Amino acid sequence: MIDFNVPPFVGKEIDFMREAALGQKICGDGPFTKKCQKILEDLTHSEAAYLTTSCTSALEMAALLCHLEPGDEVILPSYTFCSTADAFVQRGAKLVFVDIRPDTMNIDEKKIEEAVTERTRAIAVVHYAGVACEMDEILAIAERHKLKVVEDAAQAIGSTYKGRMLGNIGDFGCLSFHETKNFSMGEGGALLLPNLDLRDEAEICREKGTDRSRFFRGQVDKYTWQDYGSSYLPSDLNAAYLYAQLLDYDRVFKDRMNTWRIYDEVLRPLERDGLIELPVIPEHCGHNAHMYYLKLKDLKERTAFLAHMREHGVLSVFHYIPLHSSPAGRKFGRFSGEDVYTTKESERLARLPLYFGLTEEDRDTVIRSVLSFFQR
Ligand SMILES: *Cc1c(COP(=O)(O)O)cnc(C)c1O
Repeated sequence: MIDFNVPPFVGKEIDFMREAALGQKICGDGPFTKKCQKILEDLTHSEAAYLTTSCTSALEMAALLCHLEPGDEVILPSYTFCSTADAFVQRGAKLVFVDIRPDTMNIDEKKIEEAVTERTRAIAVVHYAGVACEMDEILAIAERHKLKVVEDAAQAIGSTYKGRMLGNIGDFGCLSFHETKNFSMGEGGALLLPNLDLRDEAEICREKGTDRSRFFRGQVDKYTWQDYGSSYLPSDLNAAYLYAQLLDYDRVFKDRMNTWRIYDEVLRPLERDGLIELPVIPEHCGHNAHMYYLKLKDLKERTAFLAHMREHGVLSVFHYIPLHSSPAGRKFGRFSGEDVYTTKESERLARLPLYFGLTEEDRDTVIRSVLSFFQR
């Protein structure tokens, strides 16, 4: 069976983990964490990058730093992972779901403003498949209504919007290094800050509410409990694992991009024949080959397609069940306007295996299996 995902492994991970262990510095914010953060700051041009235990934790930090009050509202797409929503729910916020665009599967920027109320405090956008949301329009709405913008860039490391790096455009950017993402440390993530205004506050909430980071920089002579916080920093062992992968950024990026392009080349004729729809990458967006998907006619055809792929030894999988139809989504949120595309498009989408190191042979098996479905 060809797996849908195999976690990235570049070869140096164990060496660096051994170095971390022998260096007897395996708690958070050790040398490997610092090195990863430096690479992430350089890559994303952010003023500060903080490794976290997950993208979920980074989103929780961002939600904390938005200073929400119970009853405040946050606008987000329903077509996303639950963590995008949960971070805000934990702060007492109400969720207001906005429909997606059928082309990119991202939040429809044209439907955001009608969802804004007196209580709206933030917009959480998700760059689905590493393809950017329409950030200029979204930032303009945020400015008009004085809203924070949180970028869930879990899938979007290295992607761009009009030349700007995703995760460094809104007020907060959240990356994921889960094993299903382009670069991994098992479980992990990062919070990106585009400017330093909130640096102290971010560091305090990440370090159990203490000013330990200021203490280590020699800015205070002892560290104390300052404010609300939690333990959001990963062990340096995990950072060592990630460090190996970030050093090999280009090789991983190119390998994924190569698979993505070949899928795209081979499948476009099916789209021209009207059999499927394929990812749309707006001209001003640079993507990172996080995902390759196709959209079938409807749920019934997708179910048949996934079964066909499995019979041919290929794990192709669907993706999010819209949050507004889930028990928690119903409890904590409401849908603004009409669900024209969220449910319909999510039921048509199937993802193909795409990971670093996918062999040519396996890739060709995937392609043959897709083609044979439509040749029946
Ligand atoms: C993977 C993912 C997350 C969660 O990331 P973790 O690091 O597993 O917490 C959140 N949002 C989106 C859009 C994701 O794809």
